[in-house]
Amino acid sequence: MRIIIDLHTHSYYSDGALSPRVIVCRAINAGCNYLSLTDHDSVEGIEEAEKFAKTRNINFIKGVEISAKYNSQSIHIVGLGIDSNEKILLDGLQRNNQVRIERAKKISDGLRKVGIHGAYEKARVLSKTDYLTRTHFAQMLVKEEVCHNISSVFKRYMTGKKPGSVSVEWSSTIDVIKWIHQAGGIAVLAHPYRYKMSLTKLRKLVRDLKMEGLDGIEILNSFSKSKDIAIAKKIADENKLLYSCGSDFHGWPNQTIELGNIPKYDLGVNSVINFL
Ligand code: AMP
Ligand code: MN
Ligand code: MN
Ligand code: MN
Repeated sequence: MRIIIDLHTHSYYSDGALSPRVIVCRAINAGCNYLSLTDHDSVEGIEEAEKFAKTRNINFIKGVEISAKYNSQSIHIVGLGIDSNEKILLDGLQRNNQVRIERAKKISDGLRKVGIHGAYEKARVLSKTDYLTRTHFAQMLVKEEVCHNISSVFKRYMTGKKPGSVSVEWSSTIDVIKWIHQAGGIAVLAHPYRYKMSLTKLRKLVRDLKMEGLDGIEILNSFSKSKDIAIAKKIADENKLLYSCGSDFHGWPNQTIELGNIPKYDLGVNSVINFL
């Protein structure tokens, strides 16, 4: 029997649309054997998810996806098997969230300059919790019919030199990996193919992170093509890193990603699951 593992998902405690409880429920219905909730810079949904999963037939792993800075680029590091009450981790996440609030205000200021008013307040309305991410701004601009879809919002307003693009001082990768280890977790580089880096740069990133203590790489997610999987696996092997996988499910109605729906691939002995 195939084991279905989804170690990368988001609830409305970051930029997902659903509650932690609904995510666990939906993961069970999708046949997931292992599930982690990995909200951006937040562990607030974990207790609810864990409680709900406890009496049901699914292995729940406490997780988080932390934003970090590598040179001038944003990198995502997933922490798996963390103690979500660990003080150093919580302090770090709080710092990142302070940065997040300041950035949201700057995004809103940038959008105002091109005639989009009240973006901060309107994006806030879309967030069911206190968390405000770029996804909320994107969902808001689609709702307001400024753009047809999320990816066109990112292209037209929130990347490069566009009006809602703001550089962010996330904590360094070395600090983020430390927080995860301090909380007893495994540090995994999320979606390596998504950083728009040449293969040489990606290899250097992974080598540098390995020196900082990185434990694994997400070699599979919803959109991984066989070429992406092969590259990620090769870089993981070169650096003796574990393999992880996750859908990066967010649950918004206009998205096609589904929990547990990841390309079929046997993670084998290097699977992070064996070390959690
Ligand atoms: P933030 O953590 O606030 O910077 O928001 C990052 C989130 O925005 C990512 O986790 C994705 O969910 C989403 N995102 C980033 N770039 C894109 C894109 N080009 N298209 C759709 N969603 C994106
Ligand atoms: Mn996201
Ligand atoms: Mn990510
Ligand atoms: Mn994610």
